[in-house]
Amino acid sequence: MTPGDGGIAVIGAGPAGCAAAIALARAGRRVLLLERQAEPRESVCGEFLGADAAAALAALGLDPATLGGVPLRRARVGWRGRDAAFALPFPAWGLPRRVLDGALREAAVAAGTELRAGAAVRGAVPGPGGWQLRLAEGAVTARQVVLATGKQALRGHPRAGAPAGALGIKLHLAGIAPGDAVTLLPFAGGYAGLQPLPGGGANLCAVWHGAPGEAARDPVAFLARVAAGSALGARLLEGARPVWDRPLAVAAVPYGFRQPAGGPAGLYRAGDQAAVIPSFTGEGIALALHSGLTAAAAILAGEEAEAFHAAWRRRSAGPMRWAGLGARLLRQAPALFVRGAGLGAAARLMARRTRIGSAPPSAWSAVWSMDDGPA
Ligand SMILES: Cc1cc2nc3c(=O)[nH]c(=O)nc-3n(C[C@H](O)[C@H](O)[C@H](O)COP(=O)(O)OP(=O)(O)OC[C@H]3O[C@@H](n4cnc5c(N)ncnc54)[C@H](O)[C@@H]3O)c2cc1C
Repeated sequence: MTPGDGGIAVIGAGPAGCAAAIALARAGRRVLLLERQAEPRESVCGEFLGADAAAALAALGLDPATLGGVPLRRARVGWRGRDAAFALPFPAWGLPRRVLDGALREAAVAAGTELRAGAAVRGAVPGPGGWQLRLAEGAVTARQVVLATGKQALRGHPRAGAPAGALGIKLHLAGIAPGDAVTLLPFAGGYAGLQPLPGGGANLCAVWHGAPGEAARDPVAFLARVAAGSALGARLLEGARPVWDRPLAVAAVPYGFRQPAGGPAGLYRAGDQAAVIPSFTGEGIALALHSGLTAAAAILAGEEAEAFHAAWRRRSAGPMRWAGLGARLLRQAPALFVRGAGLGAAARLMARRTRIGSAPPSAWSAVWSMDDGPA
């Protein structure tokens, strides 16, 4: 990209970056999508997709069921000897991140995005004609930047005021059949989500607030810690075999972070760079997809980054608050959480409140078909 050509650089090909890239490319903008990983791969994630994520994916031409997602119909939770379950108030699926991220990358390329995979961005500074991005293989200039690096901060662009982080740990399991439910399993030090994988087996993913010790490295220790939290966990995990030699882990996840209104001109933060919703009580992928789409709509409408950040902060406030409350209960009062889950209607209301909500796919296609900006 050369200065003044109207090109947009999107940094990070996760859900947020791909959603933004697809929308901008469909509107005829020149988009360069820079991703440091050469191939899509598993990342630390519970892999739960709800209706809002599905609506955003539909706008992008993707469908969790067609991608092989396992339908989830119930949520259940266990703590010590008690457990409870309720019917999910919206459709949901379990889909491995490698599959989801791979489909999103392909859709971005099909929409006309130039994808440079294996290209880590090392810095971004404002300069003549827009932003100068530093890569190992040279510099790139773009008029605007969508910053969608997810869990990792780009050098020089920390998440201001981000709270102290939790640890995320994930492990795929064989020899276990968790049925059509997403199961929440609080244990000493954190809580985990367990749900089925396409083709059999399960994904076990945990949020850890204390020191995990061996559990961060040793799959057997990880399973033992989660199973010790509840009779339900012990029952479900009995006979489970780790598929990987060691769990995947990510440190310092700043749950509750929301990008303050403001920020430099021309740099739009999306996904986990804009807000980090507590896992299992909220849905980070749905927020990432919707914020990517909304950032693209802001760019197409000529809205400044500052205004976009302020609007996204307002829009995400409700789900962040409710998901934060749910996560606090899971951590600090799991017995109360189980009791609440047993009151079906209250649990379903809470589950709805934590969602970002979604515009119909036709509303998004109107956004990219009306643009007459530089090609
Ligand atoms: C323990 C845990 C469980 C979770 N469970 C769920 C769940 O069940 N359901 C759900 O909806 N959400 C869940 N989430 C949240 C979800 O994973 C994130 O919110 C979501 O992935 C954010 O998408 P993103 O596009 O912002 O970032 P990411 O998915 O992290 O993607 C960012 C991309 O940017 C790339 N990148 C980073 N730095 C650079 C760089 N310098 N140059 C180029 N590329 C770069 C990365 O390689 C990556 O591909 C969970 C999170 C955790 C920690």
